[in-house]
Amino acid sequence: MHCPFCSHSETKVIDSRLVADGDQVRRRRECQECGERFTTFESAELLLPRVIKSNGSRQPFDEAKLRSGILRAIEKRPVSLERVELTINRIKHRLRATGEPEVNTLSVGELVMDELRDLDDVAYVRFASVYRSFQDINEFREEIERLDAGKIKRDE
Ligand SMILES: [Zn+2]
Repeated sequence: MHCPFCSHSETKVIDSRLVADGDQVRRRRECQECGERFTTFESAELLLPRVIKSNGSRQPFDEAKLRSGILRAIEKRPVSLERVELTINRIKHRLRATGEPEVNTLSVGELVMDELRDLDDVAYVRFASVYRSFQDINEFREEIERLDAGKIKRDE
């Protein structure tokens, strides 16, 4: 691990602990040359499945895009960034757990909505409204009513 300040190759780990439910190691390092300290997050490289778009093209899973979608959905909602990160980790974990080399974009969307439902009702409806491109306000209201009634099934 090169020092990000002076590019020296010798850095010493001064603290190390597990974070994100043990999926990551947070390391505090100190450069042996300039003495600057910095933090690294390391996780095992388990490959995420590639995403099959509706037009048939394959793309790598885009975590930044997922994060920005979730952040948009929780705007002005009482949801901490830490919970957003945990949700993203859970989504990635579930994608890896499929064991599939490729998943279609619909399954990814359903999985994200499933996790958002646990995170925040409003965020879920916002995300679902964009994702499912609700045609009219009635469809939107129906979704909210189903949410209220707690009748949403996973595999509808
Ligand atoms: Zn340095």
